[in-house]
Amino acid sequence: MRPLRRDMQMIFQDPYSSLNPRHTIGTIVGAPFKLQGVKPEGGVRKEVQRLLEVVGLNPEHFNRYPHEFSGGQRQRIGIARALALNPKLVVADEPVSALDVSIQAQVVNLLDDLQTELGLTYVIIAHDLSVVRHVSDRIAVMYLGKIVELADRESLYKAPMHPYTKALLSAVPIPDPKRRSARSERILLKGDVPSPISPPSGCRFHTRCWKATEVCTTQEPPLIALKTGHQVACHHPENAPDQVPGEAALATAREAIEIVALKKEPAGAEAAPDPAATGEPGTSGAASGPGTPEEPGAGPKE
Ligand code: SF4
Repeated sequence: MRPLRRDMQMIFQDPYSSLNPRHTIGTIVGAPFKLQGVKPEGGVRKEVQRLLEVVGLNPEHFNRYPHEFSGGQRQRIGIARALALNPKLVVADEPVSALDVSIQAQVVNLLDDLQTELGLTYVIIAHDLSVVRHVSDRIAVMYLGKIVELADRESLYKAPMHPYTKALLSAVPIPDPKRRSARSERILLKGDVPSPISPPSGCRFHTRCWKATEVCTTQEPPLIALKTGHQVACHHPENAPDQVPGEAALATAREAIEIVALKKEPAGAEAAPDPAATGEPGTSGAASGPGTPEEPGAGPKE
């Protein structure tokens, strides 16, 4: 595995706990060279300083400790460490979720630039659908540890096939009031996410799906391509032919969700911000309360 690890590196979610507070950033970013027995041309120190420059940090800060940096700068240190061995694949686990929104944009743009410059492939694990849309070419949506939909970005956001994906996308806040009228409803999933240790039989989503039928409770749907490049694991997909036609929805399925009709804004009108859409506390809780589709760990993954 050790030689293979040079080609596959990781960026961790929490830039505070993923850097050893007792080591200088020079030691941290230089660690991959030591572990892999690689001697960069010009020496480790020179190479580490070059990497710090690549990620937008001052190379003179080589001898500083992690606590002397902000969250965004620490994430840049983590990115520099991941790039040290010139990998082909970088797995980024929620790379921006621990950062302020303004810093998130900087780090996402940095990842974008590095991808173009270095020809990297990223696998980004994230639950923020706006970030996912911005950074992904292909997206895999997971529910309870299984991929339920896999498609390219345009196809997935334009015509999601899995009911879970549809519910997730309906919950994404639209910050531009002029564009908000483009969406007519929000789907709120009720109930809790079942335990992944003891998942429901058949389709894992059937306890919360408004389209669930008898077959969904007994047969796990395979992940199959229903359009070129668009795979889904569902017996009764949206935006595609029914795979098991003629089945009636379960009586409990009707209780599984709540559809919230969104108010249409008159064309050209400046609408007041919708507090529910932003998920602010003290609102109806439509986007942030328990049972919304945004439960942690169940989001889309690239
Ligand atoms: S329709 Fe059936 S198979 Fe498809 S997501 Fe709902 S419960 Fe699962």
